Amino acid sequence: MFESGIRQLRMAISMAAGRRLDTANIGRLIHDLVATVAEFGEPGADAEEVLGSSMADPKSLQELTSRGLRRTARRLAAQSAFYARRFAAADVGTDKFALADLRAIPVTTKRDLIERAGDFRCADVPAHLVTRTTGTTGRPAEVWLSRYEMELWPALAALSSLLQDALRSGDVMQVNMNSRAIAANHLTAATCRLAGAACKLDGIVAPEEAVASLVDARVTVLSTYPSYLAELVTAARRLGVGPGDLSLRRVTVGGEVLSPSLATAGCQTLGVPHIDDVYSITEAIPVAGRACGHGHLHHDVNQGLTEVLGLASSEPAAPGELGTLVITPFFPYRDCMPVFRYDTRDLVRCLPSEPLSCELAGLPATSQVLGKAEDLLCAGPAREVTPRQLIDAIEALPTQPWPARYRADVRDGRIQLAVPAAAVNGLGEGVARRHFADAGLDIDLAIVADDLLPSLRRTRGDLREASFGGQQTLVGA
Ligand SMILES: [Zn+2]
Repeated sequence: MFESGIRQLRMAISMAAGRRLDTANIGRLIHDLVATVAEFGEPGADAEEVLGSSMADPKSLQELTSRGLRRTARRLAAQSAFYARRFAAADVGTDKFALADLRAIPVTTKRDLIERAGDFRCADVPAHLVTRTTGTTGRPAEVWLSRYEMELWPALAALSSLLQDALRSGDVMQVNMNSRAIAANHLTAATCRLAGAACKLDGIVAPEEAVASLVDARVTVLSTYPSYLAELVTAARRLGVGPGDLSLRRVTVGGEVLSPSLATAGCQTLGVPHIDDVYSITEAIPVAGRACGHGHLHHDVNQGLTEVLGLASSEPAAPGELGTLVITPFFPYRDCMPVFRYDTRDLVRCLPSEPLSCELAGLPATSQVLGKAEDLLCAGPAREVTPRQLIDAIEALPTQPWPARYRADVRDGRIQLAVPAAAVNGLGEGVARRHFADAGLDIDLAIVADDLLPSLRRTRGDLREASFGGQQTLVGA
């Protein structure tokens, strides 16, 4: 019964010709799924496959993508003032829009979104909720969402989380994300409600308080940023809290670089088999990516298209080349303030062209996100250093300086890396220099006083939310 429901849903999605999906129907499917799991212990054998999370056949994928683009372009040309102008200027007919027409449409930038926000709003749908980008660089952009989107996304998220056993009825989820990440927090709460899980939206509080909550509330699923995970792991170790005190079965992070050293430490201290590393960005919701066991980032093909464009050329990046992720969410998954070819400026490297052999091989993949394009250091031709290389190397220091704090720039053709004294405390400068050389980094190392910390790399975990009472502290206090 449940599988036939999923098949009908897939059919409805594949037939979607400019119509919104019926969220009540998806709600009923979730209800059936929770009941199925309660009765049989797990969803039907190939339920995830039925949901269509992979697309092994390149021809079907191309067809799916073309249909998604055409549907989206047709609607945007009619409803979005910004894109009506873009499509008209490119002289591209949206009724027959094909993959080959894509390159005629310039990418949309964050600046477009900030400066002409009103022009992005679709005329045929009332706005319901506004959310802001919460990254650590630049002015935030505001993205308006419709009531339909706020019903659809958690329904789809609950469905796939239940199918993948990422969420179970009875789970207790703790969310340590910025409270101003309005959409992410609302969606997580709604997803938990649909899946029958409890939800603690705790924000970015003092890490000791978050650790105490993990223990006291018997939290089973944790969702946070890598930098805050770093603070939680450090605090748990200081407090003597380990796997025996915790009930966690799953930890998910996103929004920043997760280094292998921190992931290993997180598993050891929190008692989980691995840390799930997911990619999503407010401007391009609901299109997301997830990391596989081989360290790739795999991109969703059902709800949107993810391209990788060369940093200077704006042409598709070649195998091995660095590029920026450019995302187009498809209608009917994005409704109120959609973007078309949104340039995230998130750096990735194109994988070599050999076939993949990982568990997500059916989905297109890139390297994991390597940082923001504006933070790429370029000391000469083929001498690029990404933020991920620096964070991985710093967090691998035996002093465990988590999360990595540093400042890096290029002077006279050399990369200068400044790290606080605490990060190399007790190692000696010679050992520290060798550590970075062994990591393949040809850099000049400067060790700076710890009180310069506030001027070094900022993280999402720095936006502490203070309150009266408890043991919360202000940043730097
Ligand atoms: Zn993979």
